[in-house]
Amino acid sequence: MISIKNLEKTYGEKRALSGISFEIQKGEICGYIGPNGAGKSTTVKIITGILAPSSGEVTVADIDVIANPEMVKPLLGYVPETGTVFESLSATEYLHFAGRMQNIPDTLVRERSALLLDYFGLAEAADRMMTSFSKGMKQKVIISTAMLHNPEVFFFDEPLDGLDAHSTLLFKELLHHLAIRGKTIFYCSHLLDVVERVCHRMIILKGGSIIAQGSIEELRDMTKQETLEEAFSILTESEEVEERTIRMLDQLGALV
Ligand code: ADP
Ligand code: MG
Repeated sequence: MISIKNLEKTYGEKRALSGISFEIQKGEICGYIGPNGAGKSTTVKIITGILAPSSGEVTVADIDVIANPEMVKPLLGYVPETGTVFESLSATEYLHFAGRMQNIPDTLVRERSALLLDYFGLAEAADRMMTSFSKGMKQKVIISTAMLHNPEVFFFDEPLDGLDAHSTLLFKELLHHLAIRGKTIFYCSHLLDVVERVCHRMIILKGGSIIAQGSIEELRDMTKQETLEEAFSILTESEEVEERTIRMLDQLGALV
């Protein structure tokens, strides 16, 4: 469903992605994991046709994204890292606005919006101006917006921002069942928590390059660690987290 070949991206002098290649099958949940600045958001912006790569090939559903971004966009649901809503609208109004932008009939938008907002526990708040919404409530509206046109491929860039424990659980279940229904999911995160439980496969990115990929079991075997968290730490950090913490606190204490 998604195919990337030799993707490169530089921002001026700064090289953000070097020789990224991978494929993701229909119905797969793929975690794209890496520390801050690894290049996750850059990759997603390129696959969704928002940002042009410096070189490389990107296809979604066999459509060349670089040549035909407008053909690909209706197939995609995207929750950006820095998603925003128009706060002076209510959640319902915002979803209607998004639906109009995507040429979805008003009646369908009304029905789908009501279902999505109810699922996320926002039924009662649906007609309130979003200025009164918490970060998590706005995030749920953004996720609902990405689902409104029933896309085939989802891109979630740090989607749990602001969500509480119950909403996180709900979201995890949502990912699982979207995949069962044949949707493809590309999930970017610097956190392992949810990823470990829902992803079929993970790609680990560091400094703009893929340093490992595979199932959770494969990554654990590869690093000989019991938990994915330890495996991730081994793969992305050059030294032990505990050592670094103790050294920093020792040095900080010595400064008195
Ligand atoms: P991640 O999402 O994994 O945290 P990003 O894709 O946002 O990483 O960023 C990858 C690298 O590219 C970082 O070093 C970041 O500072 C740099 N970068 C991202 N966007 C820009 C930009 N618009 N201009 C210059 N550098 C950028
Ligand atoms: Mg990012």
